[in-house]
Amino acid sequence: MIITITHNSQSQQGLLFKPRQVNLHTHSVFCGHGKGSVNDYVESAVANEVRVLGCSEHAPVPDERWSRTRMPFSRIGEYMHDVEQAQADRRLTVLKAVECDYLGDYQNYYRDEFVGKWKCDYLIGAIHFVNFSDAKDISIHNGHIGKRELARYTEHYVDMLASGLFLFGAHPDVFGCMYRVWDDEAKACSQAIIQAAKTYNVPLEINGNGFRRNKILSSKGLVRPYPIRHFWEMACEAKVTAITNSDAHKPEDLTVSFDTSVAFANSIGIELASFELIE
Ligand SMILES: [Zn+2]
Ligand SMILES: [Zn+2]
Repeated sequence: MIITITHNSQSQQGLLFKPRQVNLHTHSVFCGHGKGSVNDYVESAVANEVRVLGCSEHAPVPDERWSRTRMPFSRIGEYMHDVEQAQADRRLTVLKAVECDYLGDYQNYYRDEFVGKWKCDYLIGAIHFVNFSDAKDISIHNGHIGKRELARYTEHYVDMLASGLFLFGAHPDVFGCMYRVWDDEAKACSQAIIQAAKTYNVPLEINGNGFRRNKILSSKGLVRPYPIRHFWEMACEAKVTAITNSDAHKPEDLTVSFDTSVAFANSIGIELASFELIE
């Protein structure tokens, strides 16, 4: 199965789906901080009229780095098996995927393991940790993210988009969790990510999970951490291809943020892309 993201309303050779019918970013119990089985997601998808469900568990790496928030390496086979079983369900299309934390060191591993060995339908690229070779990884969700770390995050993200491995880039503006001002650094980093998305033709994701997170204290008072409106205004101006996903960590969250995401996109003038599925 090949899934592509498209602005064409005319189908080339496969089936076209509207944004509401597709959700490519979900996490189950396998990652340790999600809830629900793959089957629970299938039932939620059917109940909510999602026609294409992408299972995209947080991918482990062989050295178990980031293991607190990733599926254990030893459970990859079990996860893939559950997804493959779900693919027999005729009520919807289930796609097999993982969300990968990009670092150059793991590029070949991700390709060999998840594209080569497990034949995933797509990979999601994301950056949750900032890495400097001589220090511990810094979490984008709760670590210290200053100018230097934000610049490094941006380097990782741009490399990830350039790698050609990923169907789309997840929550490019997740740095808003800890970098809470919209200053020249934030603008320059956002511009670099947006430019790379254009250059390498990789869609970016308006992430529904950001709308469901607790508000954070910024220079402007309490705000949501991401999506960052300024970021997406720049992305809109650059005509970046944008999609939205729930990034659900429990089955009942599969579609709850969809309307909010669409209203957000509309208010900026972003037209969300559709999806094409080719068997
Ligand atoms: Zn997660
Ligand atoms: Zn995710």
